[in-house]
Amino acid sequence: MKTSQYDVLIIGTGIAGLHTALNLPSSLRVLIVSKDYAWECNTFYAQGGIAVAVNHDDIALHIKDTLEAGAGHCNQEAVEVLCTEGPEVIQQLIKRGCMFDKDELGCILYTKEAAHSTNRIVHAGGDATGRVVHLFMMEQLRVPILYNTQVTDLLIENGRCYGARVFHADNVFNIYANKTVIASGGVGSLYEYHTNARTISADIQGICLNHSIALADMEMMQFHPTAFVLGNAVRKQLLSESLRGEGAKIVDEDGLRFVFDYDERGELAPRDIVSRAIFDYKDKTHKEVYLDLSAFSEDHFKQRFPSIYFNMQNIGYNIPQQRIPISPAFHYAMGGIHTDLFGKISQVEDLYAVGEAAHTGLHGANRLASNSLLEGLVFSKRVATDIIKTIDIKREIKEFPEVEDVLINENDKELKNELRNIMWCYAGILREEKNLNKAMNRVKEMLELPIGKLLKLRLLVSKEIIQSALNRKKSLGAHCMKEEISL
Ligand SMILES: Cc1cc2nc3c(=O)[nH]c(=O)nc-3n(C[C@H](O)[C@H](O)[C@H](O)COP(=O)(O)OP(=O)(O)OC[C@H]3O[C@@H](n4cnc5c(N)ncnc54)[C@H](O)[C@@H]3O)c2cc1C
Repeated sequence: MKTSQYDVLIIGTGIAGLHTALNLPSSLRVLIVSKDYAWECNTFYAQGGIAVAVNHDDIALHIKDTLEAGAGHCNQEAVEVLCTEGPEVIQQLIKRGCMFDKDELGCILYTKEAAHSTNRIVHAGGDATGRVVHLFMMEQLRVPILYNTQVTDLLIENGRCYGARVFHADNVFNIYANKTVIASGGVGSLYEYHTNARTISADIQGICLNHSIALADMEMMQFHPTAFVLGNAVRKQLLSESLRGEGAKIVDEDGLRFVFDYDERGELAPRDIVSRAIFDYKDKTHKEVYLDLSAFSEDHFKQRFPSIYFNMQNIGYNIPQQRIPISPAFHYAMGGIHTDLFGKISQVEDLYAVGEAAHTGLHGANRLASNSLLEGLVFSKRVATDIIKTIDIKREIKEFPEVEDVLINENDKELKNELRNIMWCYAGILREEKNLNKAMNRVKEMLELPIGKLLKLRLLVSKEIIQSALNRKKSLGAHCMKEEISL
């Protein structure tokens, strides 16, 4: 394959990557690369919806809820940007024709999720918000996507980025660009139990570490309380927060709603509290924990949560009548590649990060439910604005060698699974210093083994998560040190 040159290279076909592309003028030559099919991303699997202030007065309340969920660790300016600019991007999507769910009078329906003080979540296709919004954006897109193309390095020299090295159809080659946008999502596949798409494995975060680009808040990893983790699927079926917002109960095998023993808000407490409650309760009592959906009629459930309904029926659960066994699972990375409020990475010119891959400090120590799709929309628009303002399409091209790294080694799969287990057990929901040290030692050992580059990238990011967790001695938000848990 011949070397290629673009104005803008976007890594990732989730909401952040697609919306960046949609906000760039057609005069720019833009290429999007995606590791797999375009839809194999977290955006596609998003269920609940997008949080957005319902009117001007609600903006202040949305800011307050976001700051509170973030446990005092948020970058207030980033939160203000999100909540203030959010309504406009949603209006633009609606004007372009994106169909959010409406009532019979044609008014947008808003639902509520944990830790939101009001109903402000717009949704689409019932519980298929991500799928509907993703499909809508793909239909609007007028730029090419190169599928099955994995970025294996960034082309960086003297503090400037010139594009990326990719692996595609058994070839390694360089794609040159004046501006490169990382929209490659979070880190889900580092953990044994997670709800993320299979493509989300922290490659680019690892590449950034290799180039001494700072990641921030990497100890801040969010676990979703209600996933169906039985079965062999790598990506575990998420049971949306909206279920609890609309009446689902968490019960033990005797029907006891034990979450109230941990927090007076019960099932509607922030998701880290509910996750820890379930994890701890299971550990202490050895009882199974379920999501009880009996508050829903079957007709309503089928209409409001069609994806969950059909997915669970398909694997043999007669819902809403039958309770679903649940466990927490890794869900979302608050930490990421540190950027300013226009997605710029300070150490490297012409390189941006946006969406779940990025860290603006917006989510603080804990993300408020449904703020991440909005983040993808709001901050990608800002990235596009900055690109338009600063791009130099006549910039000098710099050639890089087309190095063929060994991407995968023979024993990598086994080590990768061991790593996932270590991260789940020792750097997961409840952490202890001794366990974090154990994890760190083993990760360092693995890094010394003859491994492929992709595993090395995973290990580097895992090491960063563990080190950040070790550095933060006290619990904060999603980072919970076991000895401090108060029940
Ligand atoms: C099951 C589930 C439900 C969720 N529900 C909600 C919700 O209701 N509301 C909400 O706000 N948030 C929700 N979230 C979170 C939200 O979906 C994500 O944070 C958001 O979609 C991230 O968007 P993104 O564009 O940053 O990344 P993604 O949508 O994850 O896209 C990442 C892209 O990068 C590509 N990529 C990765 N690595 C490479 C590489 N090395 N080379 C090339 N390409 C690469 C992937 O192939 C993919 O195309 C949910 C998440 C999950 C998993």
